Amino acid sequence: DPGTRWLFGDQLGPHFLDAADQPVLMIESRRVFARRRFHRQKAHLVLSAMRHRAAELGDRCTYVRADTYAEAVTAAQADGVDLSVCQPTSFAAVRLVERLDDVRMLPARGFATSRDEFTDWAGGRKSKSLLMEDFYRLARKRLGVLMDGDDPVQGRWNFDAENRGGPPKPAERVQRDGAGVLDVPPPWWPEEDEIDAEVRADLDRWAADGDVTFIGDDGPRLFPATAAEAQSALGRFLDGRLSAFGRYEDAMLADDPWMAHSLLSSSLNLGLLDPVDVVHTAEQAYRAGDAPIEAVEGFVRQVIGWRDYMWNLYWHLGDDYRHGNELQAREPLPAWFADLDADAVQARCLSSILRDVRQHGWVHHIPRLMVLGNYGLQRGWRPDQLTDWFHRAFVDGYDWVMVPNVVGMSQYADGGRITTKPYAGGGAYINRMSDYCKPCAYSPTVRVGEKACPFTAGYWWFLNRHRDGLSGNFRMKQPLMGLTRLSDLEALVEQEDERGSRAP
Ligand code: FAD
Ligand code: SF4
Repeated sequence: DPGTRWLFGDQLGPHFLDAADQPVLMIESRRVFARRRFHRQKAHLVLSAMRHRAAELGDRCTYVRADTYAEAVTAAQADGVDLSVCQPTSFAAVRLVERLDDVRMLPARGFATSRDEFTDWAGGRKSKSLLMEDFYRLARKRLGVLMDGDDPVQGRWNFDAENRGGPPKPAERVQRDGAGVLDVPPPWWPEEDEIDAEVRADLDRWAADGDVTFIGDDGPRLFPATAAEAQSALGRFLDGRLSAFGRYEDAMLADDPWMAHSLLSSSLNLGLLDPVDVVHTAEQAYRAGDAPIEAVEGFVRQVIGWRDYMWNLYWHLGDDYRHGNELQAREPLPAWFADLDADAVQARCLSSILRDVRQHGWVHHIPRLMVLGNYGLQRGWRPDQLTDWFHRAFVDGYDWVMVPNVVGMSQYADGGRITTKPYAGGGAYINRMSDYCKPCAYSPTVRVGEKACPFTAGYWWFLNRHRDGLSGNFRMKQPLMGLTRLSDLEALVEQEDERGSRAP
């Protein structure tokens, strides 16, 4: 008898149960939403997905609305229920389960590499040699993904060189709803149902009661809330969108936030999709000749490479990792940024991306890393506040994924345990990878004066502040040399000291 499975709100797929008819306990806590200002569409998605799962399970599910998890668990146990739970996805939730009596905690599910497998691999290695590329190759071999016997298909593990192209030229775009977008089929969008209507009414009421406040716009739900919807979204991605994934993976278009991305992060993180199934299905597209190797390999690398690498590093690096602040960044997050006030911003890239976040609770990897995160890094914003903001503002944000991505990858607040150098970049990078700059009030090549690009000037301002701290980093040698050659550095520093964290 597997007993009753307690499901957290990010454990919603069939693979979190041991038997198709296993009884389930789910707990919805309004207090979780009252504690922090979440994006309205994130709150909607999470509640909608939980309630959809409960509806699917019908009588087998006890769905409790309670103030705290502990209260609901204790009440269930008082009724004689024998509870088990798959390891939850944050340190705080694991501690919570450990504090409760008689709840069996099973290994985590929903990831491709288990914590034990990671520990075996990481074993004696120094943290500097925990390379994503090595981790990823091992996962490919172990899971038999894109392998011909012992060798990677086409004899290569890595197709990064073929990926990472610039944005499509205007002639390569198509007009859709008045916008020039990448020439791929549009993403799959769900249709809302009565459960969504009920969630919307509840959130309106909570907000009106003053219990809960949100950031971002309400809008039609854009991301899957059930395993079946997630399969539809995956199907659409594989059917025509995946083939352009690699080439445009790093490019940005002002009129097309989605480009050829999968939009599957929220489904994977809610547990609606199993990552191993996802990559096997993507491999079939390659084997059937429907998508080129560089696109499929690029996608597989994200799902069983980066995603699992970040998941495992979250546990490996420990709960204190979140407090890292190697660059001593102490500026609070300014209100215009925290509140997604795109209209206050003139810099076209930043304004457009903040608007996308406000409207959808999602932008792809490069806007997160090279625009939003990059700006915070340059301006010296507190990494803990930025992590919390990303967590609340994005539909796919959870503690395990935000902490390593923001503290480590984006803010270099860990002093380089995940990346070899800070992801700081100037306007030249944004200009190369997007169509933002031409109509912008600023110019990416100008450092000082009215047209000075806040990213370009901010880049040098950042390097200048951290000249000494970064001087030992081999990969920063070139950029720091560049700094010594700037004739207008003094004026630039004065200008950026003055601009600081004001909306650019
Ligand atoms: P695609 O571009 O289609 O990629 C496929 C899948 O790969 C994604 O769905 C995701 O599951 C996985 N993936 C790729 N890179 C990463 C990564 N670095 N970490 C984890 N998974 C990855 N991803 C989240 O899922 N949740 C987050 O809260 C999150 N926060 C981020 C914050 C910052 C500052 C940065 C730089 C990245 C963050 N990412 C996060 C990673 C990545 O940006 C998103 O997973 C991706 O943009 C989601 O869109 P997609 O599903 O269309 O991804
Ligand atoms: Fe962004 Fe600078 Fe380009 Fe304007 S010029 S869009 S601020 S990078």
